[in-house]
Amino acid sequence: MAIPLDRCHLSEGSSRQELLDRARQKFLRAEELRKAIQNDEFLLHFQPQIELKTGLVSGVEALVRWNHPLEGMLPPSEFICLAEETGVIVELGEAVLKKACHQAKKWSMNGRARVPVSVNMSPKQFQNAGVVDHVKTALRESGLDPSLLEIEITESSVMRDIGSAVGVMKELTDMGVTFAIDDFGTGYSCLNMLKKLPFSRLKIDRSFITNTPDGEQDCAIVTAILDLARSFKLQVVAEGVETIEQAQFLRLAGCEHGQGYFYSRPVCVLTIDALLGNQY
Ligand code: C2E
Ligand code: CA
Ligand code: CA
Repeated sequence: MAIPLDRCHLSEGSSRQELLDRARQKFLRAEELRKAIQNDEFLLHFQPQIELKTGLVSGVEALVRWNHPLEGMLPPSEFICLAEETGVIVELGEAVLKKACHQAKKWSMNGRARVPVSVNMSPKQFQNAGVVDHVKTALRESGLDPSLLEIEITESSVMRDIGSAVGVMKELTDMGVTFAIDDFGTGYSCLNMLKKLPFSRLKIDRSFITNTPDGEQDCAIVTAILDLARSFKLQVVAEGVETIEQAQFLRLAGCEHGQGYFYSRPVCVLTIDALLGNQY
């Protein structure tokens, strides 16, 4: 019997046989992931980020997909968790960084305005001793201006050891790379972290945007996060903007950027090419 692998953790009450089967499947899937990196089965889709004041594309977020030979295009929810658990994420993350930097370099060479690319980095990848080298290599091989690369990390990446996070971030920000704090509001929302770490942008998690502008509490949370960001001189990206009402609320509240299905789903390179072509 096939056991779904989209959950990282084993549920309580599983029988011994179920546990063994699941462990075996996980092992096989992890092996498959490793081979898929060698076979270059991963590709990137990009989701535009919109400057709310002008309605123009101000950047794109790279989102990985696994073009599985038998199962078709798989979303990150099918493999990122397992990749993180097994450590394969470090190699996968390196491949994603290289692809994203190469693509951003191509866009910057087409004589268009600058299109920064945001790349997600998982905790194991960020905490890996080689992370600075991985980023430097991706930048050097692609020739991308480091200021066109933003790295998105979540609070869980930095909470274990803020000291070493400061070191990594400082080394990369000195080169011009910027950092965004992803899914803000869902974790510790630790102010000490905002004070100590050199973030440029904060991304408000989709769960707070969903009920705006009708939900009073979520509107209050979003407004409070915007105030907080202003005091720390951080720009804000609202995630998961799905309606015109949400977009209007955010613009009036002073949020600088929006991202979500209202503007565009994550799309392939060619569609972004067309979007940027219309813009510049
Ligand atoms: P994320 O970083 O929070 O990325 C945003 C996710 O929300 C994307 O899902 C995107 O398709 C989805 N989304 C965007 N706008 C909307 C909207 O308006 N409504 C709804 N319902 N969803 C929206 P996706 O592509 O499935 O990625 C899921 C997560 O997988 C990402 O969440 C990120 O944590 C992770 N991920 C994606 N690519 C990478 C990667 O290259 N490396 C790592 N480490 N993680 C990645
Ligand atoms: Ca993200
Ligand atoms: Ca996010």
